Amino acid sequence: MKNIPELFGSMVFNETVMQARLPKDIFKALKKTMSQGTHLELDLANVVANAMKDWAVEKGATHFTHWFHPMTGITAEKHDSFISPIGNGKVIMEFSGKELVRGEPDASSFPSGGLRCTFEARGYTIWDITSYAFIKDDTLYIPTAFCSYSGESLDKKTPLLRSMEAIHTQALRILRLCGNTMVQRVSTTVGVEQEYFLIDKDVYLKRPDLMYTDRTVFGARPSKGQELDDHYFGSIKPRVYAFMKELEEKLWKLGVYAKTKHDEVAPGQHEMAPVFTTTNIACDHNQLTMELMRTIADKHGLACLLHEKPFAGVNGSGKHNNWSLSTDTGVNLLEPGETPYENAQFLLFLVAVIKAVDTYQDLLRATVASAGNDHRLGANEAPPAIVSMFLGDELTAILDAIESGEDYQDVSQQAMEIGVTALPHFPKDTTDRNRTSPFAFTGNKFEFRMLGSTFSVAEPNIVINTAVAEVLRQFADTLEKESDFKKGIAKLIKKTIREHKRIVFNGNNYSEEWAIEAEKRGLSNHRTTVEALPAMIAPSCIDLFIKHGVYNETELRSRYEIHIESYCKTITIEALTMVDMVNGGIIPACIVYQNELAKLLKRKKECGDFDTTLEERLLTKIAKASGCLLKKLDALEAALLKADDSQDILTHAQFCRDNIFAAMSELRISADSLETCVAKKYWPYPSYSDLLYSV
Ligand code: ADP
Ligand code: MG
Repeated sequence: MKNIPELFGSMVFNETVMQARLPKDIFKALKKTMSQGTHLELDLANVVANAMKDWAVEKGATHFTHWFHPMTGITAEKHDSFISPIGNGKVIMEFSGKELVRGEPDASSFPSGGLRCTFEARGYTIWDITSYAFIKDDTLYIPTAFCSYSGESLDKKTPLLRSMEAIHTQALRILRLCGNTMVQRVSTTVGVEQEYFLIDKDVYLKRPDLMYTDRTVFGARPSKGQELDDHYFGSIKPRVYAFMKELEEKLWKLGVYAKTKHDEVAPGQHEMAPVFTTTNIACDHNQLTMELMRTIADKHGLACLLHEKPFAGVNGSGKHNNWSLSTDTGVNLLEPGETPYENAQFLLFLVAVIKAVDTYQDLLRATVASAGNDHRLGANEAPPAIVSMFLGDELTAILDAIESGEDYQDVSQQAMEIGVTALPHFPKDTTDRNRTSPFAFTGNKFEFRMLGSTFSVAEPNIVINTAVAEVLRQFADTLEKESDFKKGIAKLIKKTIREHKRIVFNGNNYSEEWAIEAEKRGLSNHRTTVEALPAMIAPSCIDLFIKHGVYNETELRSRYEIHIESYCKTITIEALTMVDMVNGGIIPACIVYQNELAKLLKRKKECGDFDTTLEERLLTKIAKASGCLLKKLDALEAALLKADDSQDILTHAQFCRDNIFAAMSELRISADSLETCVAKKYWPYPSYSDLLYSV
């Protein structure tokens, strides 16, 4: 194995490289820009660009690209080479400051939702100076934000950066109120656990549904699924191991802290988790990870499935978004401290998150809504569609005590009158027991577990950051008016617990009782994407985002439209794929098999006294089932014809769910039952066993 510390980040234009390659004053100025988000002057940019280009060319790069996160959920790039003609048929390698800080990709082909009218073909990409440039495939990648000519954000990066700014501003107010004068910057940190499936490429290529929709729209259950629990943390198969090894090496070179890898619950399912980092970087890194997973799998003769539910009846894939707040002085604000003083501050941030999640539960739910994730949420393999928080017994008991004022009286003076003198540390093993919770406190961070595996982590974090920023703003406003800060903070914590404790649930989120209990508590339960998405444009949410400068109303509405459109498109593509597979594969297979049976039956009958029970029974069964299949196919085709995408988009989405998706489920039942009675050699598509045990 190569020297990992040397390998790590070797393809990244990070601070070490900057320091080595930039004149001292330029490096200092750039660092200031990076940490304070100030404007980058063009002469400075020119020097940086030139150093970057020299470094990249030495590493074999020939091109550069502005790399951005359009609202498709994946990343986009357009490559330009460094060459610049100098006459007499010669070129030199050149890269200017202007090219570094700003690009002008044609933006008209990216989804823009309601922004379409304000938005010409032109869009700008602007260097996100806080995320390092890197080299991949002989190209220098420059992480950028993407916006329209009129300045509206067309990507997921810009609002994410704005939300980080919002939470920084408000958290800093709180810290100052708490007497902290040292901290200059509060950042949110994110660690993303990524689940995925690997299957053999050859079987993958025989499944049009996997190729077009990333999930199987047909497939009878295999006789052996995940029932035996023998895959989780199992020993990793050699082909998978080779894939993981290459993935890790590539990620390390790109400065991604790939840390943990293991087999997951379902056969063919695995997980990768990096060490956490600043949110926008974690988001960039997760996108890189997903992209590399796909391309590296391909090299290894594998297909990487990132879909939330590639196989019905088998656990789907999620993404866990571990989230916390940390200061530039190295303090995790969700870590209980050593002193009562620090603990008061910890509790304040903790209850701020509780209030934020309770108040904006619908918005959080909306950020994890997609056609793919509809298969998981509430299906007893992922959290339910109800947002709630797990705090663990210990912490809940402390909050209960504060609320009821039990310890409140006998707190010594310097103990910050918050009800408890000292807080225990919450080791992971006592706080991490509940795996069914959507939003769990795990010792020193929160783990939001509702994300689907294909999701960009941008939107969930935009919402968490902004919602918490808003609560911190309210807290700061209140506390600034308090004459007695200690009493004020105690009162505030108590009040917040009382008003928002309904969101805390430490029990089994998969149980039916919880759905009933949650309803009593007034918590929302948006079972599908169609129900969940409208929360994005509720007046209170529009206000929230405007107030903190994260989205303006047009930007927000455009996101809403894009999500609904994408839901409708996904369902439609899946339905069309089903129609094609039935017409092109399943019906012909039924005909051929029936023909074989009929021929055999005829021969047997001609010969006289053979027993023909088997052929007759099978023929009848398949004939009946095929007839049924045909009817359901007709129904699906009729629904597809009736779907009218000129309608109001929400009505269209409702139609997709209630008619098209419902018809798809019906059709699937027929096809899957046929799969179990048509001889394998006639069935046109690899079975679930072929797929799940292909590696
Ligand atoms: P589990 O599978 O038990 O949920 P893992 O150890 O696989 O836990 O993943 C935990 C994730 O949480 C890792 O990515 C880790 O880096 C991240 N994490 C740890 N501390 C923080 C923090 N302060 N902020 C954000 N993420 C964190
Ligand atoms: Mg986890």
